[in-house]
Amino acid sequence: MRSQFFSLWRKGTEAPDSLPAERRRSFEIMAEIYLLALCVQLMLAPVLFLVGRPILGWLNLICLAGYVVALVLHRRLFVATALAVKLCVFLVFVVVVGVVITANQASLVYFLLFAEVEMMLADLRRRTKIVATGCLVTLSLGVLHLPPLHGVTQSVSGVDTFLADLGLGLVFVMLCIVILRMLAITDHHEHRYRRDAMHDSLTRVLNRRAIFERASIYWKANREFAVALVDADRFKEINDNHGHSAGDAVLRHLAGLLRESLRSDDSVGRVGGEEFLMLLPGAGKSQGIAAAMRIRDRLARYPCRLDSIELSVTLSMGIATSEEGLHLRDLIELADRRLYAAKSAGRDQVVAEGHADAATSRNSQRLAQGVERALEADRG
Ligand code: GH3
Ligand code: MG
Ligand code: MG
Repeated sequence: MRSQFFSLWRKGTEAPDSLPAERRRSFEIMAEIYLLALCVQLMLAPVLFLVGRPILGWLNLICLAGYVVALVLHRRLFVATALAVKLCVFLVFVVVVGVVITANQASLVYFLLFAEVEMMLADLRRRTKIVATGCLVTLSLGVLHLPPLHGVTQSVSGVDTFLADLGLGLVFVMLCIVILRMLAITDHHEHRYRRDAMHDSLTRVLNRRAIFERASIYWKANREFAVALVDADRFKEINDNHGHSAGDAVLRHLAGLLRESLRSDDSVGRVGGEEFLMLLPGAGKSQGIAAAMRIRDRLARYPCRLDSIELSVTLSMGIATSEEGLHLRDLIELADRRLYAAKSAGRDQVVAEGHADAATSRNSQRLAQGVERALEADRG
């Protein structure tokens, strides 16, 4: 029962897969606030009828319906409209309770403070939040200064009234600043964690999982693209002759060179020790070969140098295009068979044709498993 409740709760608040990572946090917080408000209001309804306040009870039910509408809108990603509906319903309910019925304007301020917190956590622009904070301060002060409907006005000196209003305004401003800063700081850290989780720590290009995920996004979107598998030739000799750190320097040099040789929407990832995968969206066979040639030329002109020693290395590449496979894994396997053919033909070559029916190598099986894992992670 308890676990059913929590799984239902999670279902109601979980961000849809289509939402970018940086918007998911705010989406889920707001969905939780809507659900929580729904539960609280639901529990309040019988109490209001039991204590003999049927008008309030009905108002409460209207409020509940408003929250349901807000939650549905929110789940359909109309986040600003959902918030507007929620705040309007909430404020009307609170104003009626606070001013008209209980004649306790001061208690309204607590509710307005909660509305401020909700608004600050919502997925709105920073400027909108600041303007809305101004509106809530004005509304709070306006409500506090309304002549009371019941009872007598207390006479308070002008200075005291000013100080009380200033204090209230400052509480709103402080809340606004604290929440804005908290969001900015956590955004900054989240961005760093995401970047680290997606990149290879040695070469700073995308890691294996991230590049396969990107390939699967292109594949699912039916985009035309070329893949190129790039492997450094006889790399082991560099490690053996110059040491592992020289090998690392060559890998960093190669990754930088690949990145610099590609267009801005192309991507490169490290998929093995000295093996890279490039994704060239919109590219056909000839553009793939042209990119490979550009890289080889550049490497010939700018070999890796370490302490004035030239650590020259050549590259073998296998290229395949999206229309050559029925599944993404076919495509990666085909590029790998062509890479293997380039190695067999003496290395320092680019192969972009043939080998469609050759047996699958162990390396291509390993790469294809990477694709499967990326697709699974995407689904999960
Ligand atoms: P081939 O031309 O057939 O590709 O030969 P190769 O020597 O490049 O390939 P092999 O698979 O025999 O060796 C790859 C080497 O790459 C072995 C491994 O120690 C080295 N290597 C893998 N990852 C790293 C790394 O992060 N840093 C360094 N320095 N070396 C690495
Ligand atoms: Mg190699
Ligand atoms: Mg290799």
